[in-house]
Amino acid sequence: MIRRYPRFDVSEIKRQIRPYDFYLKEQGLDRFSHRSRQWATAGLCPFHEDSSAGSFKIHEDSGAYICFSCGVKGGDIIDFLQKKCHLSFKEAVEKLKDEWRIV
Ligand SMILES: [Zn+2]
Repeated sequence: MIRRYPRFDVSEIKRQIRPYDFYLKEQGLDRFSHRSRQWATAGLCPFHEDSSAGSFKIHEDSGAYICFSCGVKGGDIIDFLQKKCHLSFKEAVEKLKDEWRIV
């Protein structure tokens, strides 16, 4: 595994935050509307003016996400948070540690 920022150890984040739980919280959902082979439909896409839930998918194990409408995609929950909240890698890591009480 390549870590671009070795100063910020993300292994605890990846170990303690299940992408499944993360995306439920971020997307304000109780459950995903459709799940198949680990890809789950995760509500409205936060990256474009989405009106029909169904395009935005997340991968429950890796945290990868993709929107089949606007084409946005990324590999994990840190990347998601960076894009969604316009944060640096470090800021996204800190926000995750904060919100999920990871020490
Ligand atoms: Zn989208």
